[in-house]
Amino acid sequence: MNRLARYGTGTGLALIHIGALAAFLPALFSLSDVILLAIAAYCTGVLGVTLCYHRVLTHRSVRLRKPLEYLFALFGTLALQGDPIRWVAVHRKHHAHADHDGDPHSIELGFKWAHVDWLYRQNVAYPTADEIARYAPDLYAEPFYRALAFLALPLQAVLAAALFLAGGWAWVVWGVFVRLVVSYHSTWLVNSAAHMLGYRTYRTTDRSTNCWWVALLSFGEGWHNNHHAFPFSARHGLRWFEVDMTWWHVRALALLGLADRIRIPTAVMRRRLAYANVRSFANPADGNVY
Ligand SMILES: [Zn+2]
Ligand SMILES: [Zn+2]
Repeated sequence: MNRLARYGTGTGLALIHIGALAAFLPALFSLSDVILLAIAAYCTGVLGVTLCYHRVLTHRSVRLRKPLEYLFALFGTLALQGDPIRWVAVHRKHHAHADHDGDPHSIELGFKWAHVDWLYRQNVAYPTADEIARYAPDLYAEPFYRALAFLALPLQAVLAAALFLAGGWAWVVWGVFVRLVVSYHSTWLVNSAAHMLGYRTYRTTDRSTNCWWVALLSFGEGWHNNHHAFPFSARHGLRWFEVDMTWWHVRALALLGLADRIRIPTAVMRRRLAYANVRSFANPADGNVY
């Protein structure tokens, strides 16, 4: 990222956080605002980023019907974490170099770096334009995703205008600024806390951890050691107590005929990578591709 882009990102993030502080004004608070926040954060952060950007587009752990994939990718673009091509390329590079040289947000450089600083400070590991095309050729091949790369800010402006017309400034503050702050930190905690805090079930070459409270905040993404062990898996919570709400979505969409090609690790794969002192909670019924 060049200096102008980094400054733009840093300034934008600061302004979004400052804008969210307006939620503390009593005049801009009501129950309907909180309901709007929940619905908007669910659509953009959970369906958009967690399900579509991460499990569908980055890792191809499940396939959605194409119109639904595009709809959820549009939601993800509204989370303002980068367009799908950029997000997928950055995340694939993270997996390729996790916590080593070349990782765009390595925890080796500290919690704050992995959480947010990597986005706006000089970052030699941030993928170049060539690398972005190389890490995400499948998305780059689709005109829809190339178009979204130019539409992130205009789409956010259209959403803000629609919210203003429907609910005034309160809906803009809660539906845009508070929502962005909530979903930013939910995603960022996966990169920071879930590479530092919690337990490790599987032997991976990075410092990824399973962190229950990050998993609750991020609808299952906090089972991040499981995820680094089996990046292809649509299911991140692998033991019975590892609640993974995004996985429930995958199952529900499959039941509705809207998702298929679901991949999860077999019991043998899990046993092979587990630390010796971890009891296997594998259910034989879980061990197959759906
Ligand atoms: Zn990671
Ligand atoms: Zn991943």
